[in-house]
Amino acid sequence: MPYVVTDECCLCGACISGCESEAISETETKAFIDVNICVECGTCERNCPSQAIIFVDDDELANYQ
Ligand code: SF4
Ligand code: SF4
Repeated sequence: MPYVVTDECCLCGACISGCESEAISETETKAFIDVNICVECGTCERNCPSQAIIFVDDDELANYQ
């Protein structure tokens, strides 16, 4: 049940600076959460001003990688 970033991301950077696990990086189009590092604390989901971070089923993960 990983957190992922949708196309609603506006690259504001809030999630990246707020992730204590340093699991989030920036791509050309949106933020990217490394599910192997993420501890699923939910901070980024709560802080995203665009509601771009969502929790998905494992079988949906491939759509966001
Ligand atoms: S906080 Fe939301 S809008 Fe800002 S970079 Fe992260 S995912 Fe994108
Ligand atoms: S859920 Fe927590 S650990 Fe995972 S990317 Fe978001 S802020 Fe970082």
